[in-house]
Amino acid sequence: MKPESILCPRPGGLYCAPGGFYIDPTRPVDRAVITHGHSDHARSGHGAVLATAETLAIMQARYGDNFAGAMEAVRYGQKIERDGVEITLVPAGHILGSAQIVIRHKGTTIVVSGDYKRRPDPTCPPFEPVKCDVFVTEATFGLPVFRFPKSEHEIAKLVKSAELFPGRTHLVGAYSLGKAQRVIKLLRVAGYDKTIYLHGAMQSMIELYERHGFDFGPLAPATADKKKDFEGAIVIAPPTALDDRWTRRFSDPLPAFASGWMGVRARARQRHIELPLVISDHADWQELTHTIAEIAPGEVWVTHGSEEALLRWCALNNQQARALHLVGYDEDEGEG
Ligand SMILES: [Zn+2]
Ligand SMILES: [Zn+2]
Repeated sequence: MKPESILCPRPGGLYCAPGGFYIDPTRPVDRAVITHGHSDHARSGHGAVLATAETLAIMQARYGDNFAGAMEAVRYGQKIERDGVEITLVPAGHILGSAQIVIRHKGTTIVVSGDYKRRPDPTCPPFEPVKCDVFVTEATFGLPVFRFPKSEHEIAKLVKSAELFPGRTHLVGAYSLGKAQRVIKLLRVAGYDKTIYLHGAMQSMIELYERHGFDFGPLAPATADKKKDFEGAIVIAPPTALDDRWTRRFSDPLPAFASGWMGVRARARQRHIELPLVISDHADWQELTHTIAEIAPGEVWVTHGSEEALLRWCALNNQQARALHLVGYDEDEGEG
């Protein structure tokens, strides 16, 4: 069976015609399968949603109890059937609950990666490569210039800076879902045991992770009346808060930002980031190309991001590939 008759791009997203469902639809549909909880992939208003229990919990926290008509939680590895199409969710290593969607129909296997990375992440199980006929990949950082350093190395820079400048408040911009929790966990793994302060917008997702069994050590809200406490402290905030008057409550703030985009010097400069931390929840160029080489699928389909260089790499490596040009998944800088 031609893979295009099993899965094809439609204006609302990737559609599986024989199974009657969309993957990460960008508009309300009857049946949706969701890879993970980031807002460009997980939207409210669908009829029925199939996802991991963690992703459903994230959607519920964001959109309220009635975010979908019906929901079905599946475990990683559990086989589900929809009109003769077998669906399995497999870890993607991106954020808590993130999954690749494996579709099997009449002997053809298609894997939709969703967003993914290959580096270890203390907040979610690692990406599992699945042999397939078609591997549908993202390419957010699909350029050879994107080679991310070890996350531990970036965290060590942050800890060192906090030691060197005890009078300054280290304000770390980190996306509130996934990145913030990973940064805090990495700080703890690195032995940083002081209280970490949180912007108010961080609270609900931190609590959600805590309900899923994560222990982040001592945390406290970054409330205005405690100015003195913040000297030399690390404060985690959504990236948008760094440009905000909110930062004025801190003495001599030192703006940092944890994102794959911080690998681009101009971006860090433009945002007045003194301490860029290149920590991404996406695959960098090496992770993307190594993953394709490892899986060696019949075909690669690229959903969104910088597809051109990746397509060229595929051509040079005799890997059949094409771009799907899906729209609606343009991540904001913070999520990178
Ligand atoms: Zn994502
Ligand atoms: Zn995304």
